[in-house]
Amino acid sequence: MLCPFCRHDDSKVIDSRDSAGSIRRRRECANCGRRFTTYERAEARSLRVIKQDGRREEFSRGKLLASLAKACAKRPLPTGTLEKIAEDIETHLMDTGRSEVSTRVVGESAVERLRDLDPVAYIRFVSVYRDFQDIEVFKETIEALLSSEEPREASSQLALLPEDTTIPRRPARRRRRRPSPYQANRP
Ligand SMILES: [Zn+2]
Repeated sequence: MLCPFCRHDDSKVIDSRDSAGSIRRRRECANCGRRFTTYERAEARSLRVIKQDGRREEFSRGKLLASLAKACAKRPLPTGTLEKIAEDIETHLMDTGRSEVSTRVVGESAVERLRDLDPVAYIRFVSVYRDFQDIEVFKETIEALLSSEEPREASSQLALLPEDTTIPRRPARRRRRRPSPYQANRP
């Protein structure tokens, strides 16, 4: 508690008493010696989640846990892992001091933790939480995950195909046009 006069952060309590729903403390600054009063109240913290359609509901660790469990179904994870994650996320959200967070923030917190934990659970969770409207975005997410895990082997499957003519040869790749400095001036 900073002294309101000199901003010093150490004070001693010289008197303390209960009043309606709070504790009133008389303090004396350890630096400038001036006195000030603080009130301490218990605050029932509540955290609401703003859903995509704008509706609010009370944050529920149980719901978060259920969606984590769904994503991690049949994955080889140690008992208690998901409970720990859900608790971590809740603590983290509470620590931000905000009274409302979007489902997206909750989801991304879970995504971050699942990414390090289990790739399959991560993909399952991401596909639900990010609610991919755009298949390209989903693809990019998966590709980003794969490329961070192992070197790409996309071409190895093609190598298994027999080299006969039943497969039409790909047309020679067109040379990518470089913008010519002359073209810029054309109408
Ligand atoms: Zn002071």
